[in-house]
Amino acid sequence: MIHECCGISERPVYWEQKTLAQMSDDEWESLCDGCGRCCVWKFEDADSGEILYTDIRCKLFDDDHCRCLDYQHRAQIVPDCMNIRQMEDKHYAWLPETCAYRLLHEGKPLFDWHPLISGNAASVHQAGISLRHHTVCGQDFCEADIVRHIIDPDAHN
Ligand code: SF4
Ligand code: SF4
Repeated sequence: MIHECCGISERPVYWEQKTLAQMSDDEWESLCDGCGRCCVWKFEDADSGEILYTDIRCKLFDDDHCRCLDYQHRAQIVPDCMNIRQMEDKHYAWLPETCAYRLLHEGKPLFDWHPLISGNAASVHQAGISLRHHTVCGQDFCEADIVRHIIDPDAHN
């Protein structure tokens, strides 16, 4: 499309043209905004079905850089790590509402702060979406303390 007002062409973007299943590996990986919201422990409320987030991070989550420390071997080290590409449709609800995979799966657009839109990898942090510097180590975690660790991931926006 060419904007009449400024003459700037708006190039088609792959995430609007392809389904998730049609994407190449690079395209798929670029969709991840690096928010880290899928790298903390979560629970499903048995009554409401609501997904409750905690600030307890996966042992491979680097809180300073908001990244997996060994993304390539994560499945061997953390068998519970979700493989989103292999996930059944019903499990997308476990992803945060801000997650690009969930948004596209539900036919919704990406947010303006998504790095693919902003052109800036840090925009996910600047918009207050990421959990960088907001998680605690789960190694010595006592299950009786779980309630104290429940968070609203949007609270620091
Ligand atoms: S929640 Fe989605 S966008 Fe955020 S880190 Fe996980 S996979 Fe990437
Ligand atoms: S293994 Fe890596 S990608 Fe998987 S939950 Fe842990 S930190 Fe996140």
